[in-house]
Amino acid sequence: MKIAFIGLGNMGGGMAANLVKAGHEVRAFDLSQDALEAAEANGCKTFGSARDAAEEAEAVVTMLPNGEIVRDVYTTDIIGQAPEGAILLDCSTIDVATAREVVEHAEAAGYDMVDAPVSGGIAAANGGTLTFMVGGTESAFNRAEGVLKAMGKAVIHAGEAGAGQTAKICNNMLLAVHMIGTCEAMIMAEKLGLDPQKFYEISSQSSGYNWSLNAYTPLPGVGVASPADKDYQGGFATALMLKDLRLAMAAAEGSGSAVPLSARAASLYEDFAGAGNGALDFSAIIRTYQA
Ligand code: NAD
Repeated sequence: MKIAFIGLGNMGGGMAANLVKAGHEVRAFDLSQDALEAAEANGCKTFGSARDAAEEAEAVVTMLPNGEIVRDVYTTDIIGQAPEGAILLDCSTIDVATAREVVEHAEAAGYDMVDAPVSGGIAAANGGTLTFMVGGTESAFNRAEGVLKAMGKAVIHAGEAGAGQTAKICNNMLLAVHMIGTCEAMIMAEKLGLDPQKFYEISSQSSGYNWSLNAYTPLPGVGVASPADKDYQGGFATALMLKDLRLAMAAAEGSGSAVPLSARAASLYEDFAGAGNGALDFSAIIRTYQA
């Protein structure tokens, strides 16, 4: 299949390479020359614009930084430029309203389109083990599934347009809350004289069981291996968690949802990122409790 791929950054680079490995002809474009060179080395054909890449494509995948850019790229270079009948897949994390707006625009021009944001970081993008949460019609999902399966281990139909983005931001909002709760409980246990490893052993098998504690333990040398053991390098950057929390807070406001705990988590991550920790893994927020 001829697939245009726009946005070959940390995530998109590996995803495009996996489409090549699956036997697709990948027509790649990025504003960065370095990203284009890396894509070429991975077997992609590179183009001078998104418009040129989309021409002749049977599917178009985008992996871009934010909603404004996604809207701009689709409006200017993809909708009306990609061949009639092409399936459009936006895998970026963006706000629900923009995701729905772009899908509506694409559908009005006769295209099938899905929002298909991902769970899993750069390692999962490179390894082809992402989870895709997909919003769109049943028929758009069925067409998108084959393309997404070449880049991931799970492809889940979440519901209508925007449902993929909704699932993504609600999941990450929950993640922020249980990470912070885990950090608070671990450090308080330690300050009360309990060995953190004992706390991990007990709570990970008790009602405090949660992913941040059990699968991503935020203290070095305690529980499972995690970015904490690598000085909080790699993993899921605080800046990206903050991006998702800002999207979640805007969605909470727009939908009239009460999110007092999540709002507090968002403000703690604002402070932590603002103090120069944006590049550290998001579990490094435990350091603010260690003082
Ligand atoms: P990135 O900044 O590394 O990559 C984005 C790429 O888009 C860059 O190479 C940039 O040059 C390119 N770009 C920007 N504007 C463009 C345009 N108009 N036309 C063509 N290319 C353009 O970001 P990333 O980490 O790869 O993230 C991409 C998306 O995936 C984001 O929406 C992010 O929230 C989401 N995401 C990232 C992670 C992660 O761990 N990095 C995990 C899950 C989801």
